[in-house]
Amino acid sequence: MTGAGISAESGIPTFRDAQTGHWARFRPEDLASPDAYQRDPELVWEWYADRYRDVMRAQPNRGHTLLAELEAEKQAAFGPDAFTLVTQNVDGLHQRAGSAGPLELHGTLLSARCETCGHVQPLPDAVTFAPPPVCEVCGHRMRPHIVWFGEFLPEDVLEAADHAFAAADVALIIGTSSLVYPAAGLADRTLARGGLVFEINPDETPLTRRASFSLRATASEGLTHLREA
Ligand SMILES: [Zn+2]
Repeated sequence: MTGAGISAESGIPTFRDAQTGHWARFRPEDLASPDAYQRDPELVWEWYADRYRDVMRAQPNRGHTLLAELEAEKQAAFGPDAFTLVTQNVDGLHQRAGSAGPLELHGTLLSARCETCGHVQPLPDAVTFAPPPVCEVCGHRMRPHIVWFGEFLPEDVLEAADHAFAAADVALIIGTSSLVYPAAGLADRTLARGGLVFEINPDETPLTRRASFSLRATASEGLTHLREA
């Protein structure tokens, strides 16, 4: 499972660090919530269009590439269930590095979801994108396909992640503060079955003491170490 730390090395600003320039006078909570969207959908879309352009300008880094390699190796050797990538990130960098289908716990900046029929479709090219997108199925307005403050994680995605952690011999927890539940509790599913939990994070987190091993390193440094070990 990966969090913001792995994308920091690609220059993706964290949620709060993205509040610069025009956006400095807004708090993320005032843009990334159902209330904010109800109040001013154009403003919220403008902000997400900016975030979308940010991530499409960024490139995946060595951490993303190493995880994509690990996925390909494990799945080639042991089948599709041998490796599951779960991410809290919404930037699509794992897919661009070659990971096939990460479970995106918080949705994605690269797609929109129809407010009327629930259809999900990719956003047009970041350079020409002018929000709001219109549903190709029913023609109604779409919202960002993102989990907002006050919303639940998508149940099917969380369930698939929970299943993978509960079946895992080894769980890698990379670049996440392990503060926010339910994602923070997934590692405990692996520990409960007697599996190993490796944490890679520059800072100590609430998981550090429970983890089987904990590396004080960035995502790319830590993964490089593990691959060479
Ligand atoms: Zn629709």
